[in-house]
Amino acid sequence: MNTKLRILTGTQSDLRLLREAADVISGGGLVAFPTETVYGLGADALNREASEKIYAAKGRPSDNPLIVHIADIEALFRIVKYVPEYALRLSEHFWPGPLTMIFEKTDMVPKETTGGLSTVAVRMPNHKAALEFIRAAGGYIAAPSANISGRPSPTTAQHVFEDMNGRIDLILDGGAVGIGVESTIIDLTADVPMILRPGFVNEEMLAKVLGKVIMDPAVSQKPKEGIRPKAPGMKYRHYAPKGLLSLVRGDTESVVSKINCLVREKESAGKKTAVIATDETKARYNCANVKSIGTREDEEGIARRLYAILREFDTMGAEFIYSEEFDTPQMGAAIMNRLLKAAGHNVIDTI
Ligand code: AMP
Ligand code: MG
Repeated sequence: MNTKLRILTGTQSDLRLLREAADVISGGGLVAFPTETVYGLGADALNREASEKIYAAKGRPSDNPLIVHIADIEALFRIVKYVPEYALRLSEHFWPGPLTMIFEKTDMVPKETTGGLSTVAVRMPNHKAALEFIRAAGGYIAAPSANISGRPSPTTAQHVFEDMNGRIDLILDGGAVGIGVESTIIDLTADVPMILRPGFVNEEMLAKVLGKVIMDPAVSQKPKEGIRPKAPGMKYRHYAPKGLLSLVRGDTESVVSKINCLVREKESAGKKTAVIATDETKARYNCANVKSIGTREDEEGIARRLYAILREFDTMGAEFIYSEEFDTPQMGAAIMNRLLKAAGHNVIDTI
């Protein structure tokens, strides 16, 4: 398949490109498009064959449901059985935005889109071109992240191209995304709303609107028998670079010296190493491939750069990657969830 690339400019001329992309969706094809979180791989959410194509293009396990993207609140009422009052409150606060809510679905949504589940995940992205594209395509676009399953999510059109060239019909290039980690997922079908995946909209922000909210205990734990995450996709290894990633935990001094020690050990065995550092620590590592993820003062910057750095280490062929921890106040849960999964929960304690 020849994958077309269309560059959005933020001007009137985008309308023609968005129309072209919408026609691909209506014809049952696949289009990668920018959102404020990461790039999505879109298909008509109400067309079972189109949804199936997403799983094939990504190599995604068939039990891992897709998020349905909408452009207005009316669209929600047609695909879900019941909208609890607190879901409306959440939509007023956070939509359009990086929050996905889970509802009981109606028959309009095929089981192929929901990985066989009777519930559906819905989100309204905060991205002008994405919203226009969704509207032009009929209002319902199923879209997981536009990466090969298991790889870091794409935050630029170039990342999408690396993974999806030849597998999908079209890529809309809207430049680098703003947030860089996937949406927060909240389940509204249980008695107490439960966060299934942390994201930019954090627990505290949700609790302010909802009063009570809990975090799925499986979010921060290594997958094991008996603990089953409520979001099926959370049980898979994800976001992973090709090299072996380890997180090194402890106070700054101990982390820097432990990583330097590990780098020395691997390099002397002829292995290629890399380090994810911060502006504050970068100069202190004795490793040729140190990348700063930014300053610890700017946690949004850390989130935005995370996946791109993991992909850069793939390009340079890093075999062993060591990262500091980023348990920052607002986005720490989201960042650490992605890093722990990318590392397969491989954590080295210095204490
Ligand atoms: P991605 O779009 O690649 O970020 O993946 C979507 C995430 O949403 C996966 O972790 C899915 O398991 C989760 N998800 C989608 N639909 C549902 C649902 N109905 N119930 C629980 N989790 C869901
Ligand atoms: Mg994904």
